[in-house]
Amino acid sequence: MTELNETHDAALKSFVTSANDGVTDFPIQNLPFAVFRRVGSGEPFRGGVAIGDQIVDLARLHRARLLSGEAATACEAAAAATLNAFMAKGTAASSALRLALSRQLRAGAADESEMHACLVSQSDVEYALPAHIGDYTDFYTSVYHATNIGRQFRPDNPLLPNYKWVPIGYHGRASSIAVSGQSFSRPVGQLMPPGAETPTLAPCKRMDYELEMGIFVGTGNALGARIGMEAAESHVFGLCLLNDWSARDIQGWEYQPLGPFLSKNFASTISPWIVTLEALAPYRLAWIRSADDPQPLPYLDSTGLRSEGAIDIQLEVLIETALMRERRLPPHRICLTSYRHAYWTLSQLIAHHTVNGCNLQPGDLLGTGTLSGPTATEAGALIELTVGGKQPITLPGGQSRTFLEDGDSITLRAHCAKPGAVRLGFGDCQGTVLPAIPL
Ligand code: MN
Repeated sequence: MTELNETHDAALKSFVTSANDGVTDFPIQNLPFAVFRRVGSGEPFRGGVAIGDQIVDLARLHRARLLSGEAATACEAAAAATLNAFMAKGTAASSALRLALSRQLRAGAADESEMHACLVSQSDVEYALPAHIGDYTDFYTSVYHATNIGRQFRPDNPLLPNYKWVPIGYHGRASSIAVSGQSFSRPVGQLMPPGAETPTLAPCKRMDYELEMGIFVGTGNALGARIGMEAAESHVFGLCLLNDWSARDIQGWEYQPLGPFLSKNFASTISPWIVTLEALAPYRLAWIRSADDPQPLPYLDSTGLRSEGAIDIQLEVLIETALMRERRLPPHRICLTSYRHAYWTLSQLIAHHTVNGCNLQPGDLLGTGTLSGPTATEAGALIELTVGGKQPITLPGGQSRTFLEDGDSITLRAHCAKPGAVRLGFGDCQGTVLPAIPL
């Protein structure tokens, strides 16, 4: 687990004044990583670090030679068009760069004018995926989500017997993951409506989102070499937001016996910014498994897990329909929950994924699964919020929704806040459903 150090000091201020307003996602205590370029510039994409409403251009910082030692080497790796080589260097490299940037960006820093020359306004940029994602695995770590979904199919036995023993997951599709701002055509697929005798090929009618966190793998493991619980977090580069768009009617017909396929692989959206585990250190919580539940098998347990395996990250889902956009109504929040409710932690996902020797690689993405919390308003997908489409939700402007309509945008947001620590956030993860391509 990451120890608190000088970069977490709540009293730190930056000479970038927008980082000090107490409401920004990107104070000097955060320093998340993304890949960006000036919009429309044709410039190469390169790594950057958010500070207030600005970005530290790591390619420019590398050329300016303001850093030394391990921080300089890390900066060079992070200046590339993908962060994979930087991620592969492990937490020592990202931590060294974080410390150097924290010192360089502080109010009164000796190199302030040179650092100013390395800043680009976030309003002037476009983002790319932060890494080449070789493999993507999606888990199912919210017991509340698993129970709510299970209840719709099996009212008497909502939770399958394996759930409390094994972190359930499936191998997802990496090629259709895109960064925030993604818009995609409503998927077409085989539908088998209730009562029908044969399926039809048609546009999805039960379009849904899933509120998830994405976990970017840093250092990988060799094929055949497992990662134990105590080392698991040292293989995590950081966290982002992930919307695992889901076509519920396609899913309902195809998912047995091998799980989701075309219902999930047409689009997935992530936030551009990756917040490191080090930045999240002030927000760790003890992980608790109820005494009424099976305790994890030893390969999924550790003292670090018990003392601070969970992370308190507040999560939100907002919707903006085409009509709301037209009427200039603000996006409307339909969910507020926390990552702390997850039944399985990210360390358990890493340990489980590799217990059979499966090799994780730098830039691999693990999804947590839909992060629903314990109450009805904490549901991380429409299928839960509307109870399978039976209880529409009402939106500003008089509209209602059971599932998403063409033109609807979903924005995921996340932040951490508590007394004595500085609020930090993840930026937006936004995507829009467009009409289906005509058959
Ligand atoms: Mn999912």
